[in-house]
Amino acid sequence: MAQPITDTSKLCIHTITVKPWPIETAIDRFAAHGVSGMTVWRDALQGRDIAATGRRIGEAGMDVVSLCRGGFFPAETEAARQAAIDDNRRAIDEAAALGAPLIVLVCGAVPKQPLVLSRQQIQDGIEAVIDQAAAAGIRLGIEPLHPMYADSRSAITTLRQANDLCAAIDSPWVGVAVDVYHLWWDPELEAQIGRCGEMGKLFAFHICDWRTPTEDLLNDRGLMGEGSIPIRQIRGWVEETGFNGFNEVEIFSNRYWAGDQEQFLGRIVDAYLQHS
Ligand code: ZN
Repeated sequence: MAQPITDTSKLCIHTITVKPWPIETAIDRFAAHGVSGMTVWRDALQGRDIAATGRRIGEAGMDVVSLCRGGFFPAETEAARQAAIDDNRRAIDEAAALGAPLIVLVCGAVPKQPLVLSRQQIQDGIEAVIDQAAAAGIRLGIEPLHPMYADSRSAITTLRQANDLCAAIDSPWVGVAVDVYHLWWDPELEAQIGRCGEMGKLFAFHICDWRTPTEDLLNDRGLMGEGSIPIRQIRGWVEETGFNGFNEVEIFSNRYWAGDQEQFLGRIVDAYLQHS
């Protein structure tokens, strides 16, 4: 079991966690609460000077941890798969401008297409952009999603599959983002986190909690401590691999987005210190 967390030096929060706030407000308020890192969702950059936004995060004393998100490679037509590759190329340019060292990949799936075919298209799509990512010095993190999203969001649903894909691609620029929300149920989780670490592929660690009942498949994630996920135990497995990066709070929640974001941010920091 990991040691309790005593400060916010490893606390990163995703912009989408406080979706109602423009990124400028999030930067100011995160910094005021002692948050140390920020993962930026691409929608938060709409209409902004991306490089200036990245500098503003740094001037506020925070690291840009990653850009969310690339991926969504599978598609039914060649043209649509090429459009996805082009969009990932734009994401690499955006990450470079922002100063983000990592792009998180939600890999994609097509509802009536076999998962095996989608996985091949994911591998092909990632391989098509590796050279550009390497030239820009930006790593790509495959995020396996919970199997409830296997129809449309990710044909990669376990850490074993993500590790296998990394092994097949075999590039130092391609690794994994481990998100407790997606992986906590997996009986292989401890072993696959260990394997991921041994491969040098553990690039990011995302936290939140699993509410009961979950009332929305996408936007009802819980605050740490509200649900079933043994976050501290999983963090322990992650840290045993030598992982020394941020603990990234990523909460999509209609109920929290409907409330006061400043109050919510205070609760995030408290929950992080008590339950992560
Ligand atoms: Zn995540």
